[in-house]
Amino acid sequence: MIYLDYQATTPLAPEAREAMLRWLDGPDGTGFGNPHSAHRLGRRAEAAVELARDQVAALFPPGGRVIFTGSATEAINLALRGSEPARAGKPLAIGAIEHSAVLDTALDLPGETTLLPVDREALLDPQAPLPEGVGLVSVMQVNNEVGTVQPIAELYARSKAAGALFVCDAVQAAGKMPLAEADMIAVSAHKFHGPKGIGALWIRDGIALHPLITGGGQEQGLRSGTLSPALCAGMGAAAQLALARMEQDAAHVALLWDRALELFSGWRLNGSADRRYKGNLNIRREGLDVGRLMSDAREVMFSAGSACASESGKPSRILSAIGLTQAEARGSIRLGFGRYTTLSELEQAADMIKDAAAQQE
Ligand code: PLP
Repeated sequence: MIYLDYQATTPLAPEAREAMLRWLDGPDGTGFGNPHSAHRLGRRAEAAVELARDQVAALFPPGGRVIFTGSATEAINLALRGSEPARAGKPLAIGAIEHSAVLDTALDLPGETTLLPVDREALLDPQAPLPEGVGLVSVMQVNNEVGTVQPIAELYARSKAAGALFVCDAVQAAGKMPLAEADMIAVSAHKFHGPKGIGALWIRDGIALHPLITGGGQEQGLRSGTLSPALCAGMGAAAQLALARMEQDAAHVALLWDRALELFSGWRLNGSADRRYKGNLNIRREGLDVGRLMSDAREVMFSAGSACASESGKPSRILSAIGLTQAEARGSIRLGFGRYTTLSELEQAADMIKDAAAQQE
């Protein structure tokens, strides 16, 4: 089996696994404490959570705080639903190719939502007009389907000038590149070799939010519920490792990208060739039956469009938004690779996929 679906999730780093084990029970059985208990066992667990918080905070710009959540989806819900402008029913503006965590949440809010269009390269125009009286803008740093990197710095500056809060879904960027400035930033541990079931929302100092989950008042009153020290420790270790290895990982991904372009030379690239994260190769071929391809090349774990879209069987909303025809979108596949992918795995996978595609001619 060759795993090429790094946008859906990434393999757990051994360092993150090791950090978690101590706080599941630990070799001496003292790692199971409730981090919110006042006694020694609790305080030890709390110290692990706070160390993890600092490690995760290092991913973000200075001047903010980290709130642990159960996923990036929850972090995005907290940022959008919990914000003053959204609660006041002010207009929202989001990128046209946001993840459904942002799109569906924005559409569920009382204010009107405007989609900021993208061009054929899947890039937003930083000069595109924002709606009158906009209260909140949300744009992702790296797109999960086609890997394009949005002009976040310009969009953040324009949102501030318009008096709006700016939220960034940095799920596909965190741990891979420096995160851009924003008012709130959502990330997910399992996309950078941490465990599933934990995400975080970074909130710039001075920004007030209303909690979505009330109860014991944990996470500074913004997200009640007992934290899992093991998940926090795993996320912290994964963040620390990703930061330490950022250049090395990027160089490895660039090498894989160059080889992948050679291997799939007859295929068309979806999304920008330059303004992108290179661990995401979304390509298409005319007349390709992707369902059949995935079954014939079943030893390779890859995705049709996006993991979510492939479950629904509908052509990807993102590929349609960048102007692909239904046939082009249906003939597209996404290969995601990263830190633990070897060149030889990529080459073997490409052979299997190309052989399976050739059988359809
Ligand atoms: N945003 C983007 C861009 C994603 O790729 C994903 C996961 O696929 C999410 C949000 C949701 O993250 P989580 O799995 O932590 O809820």
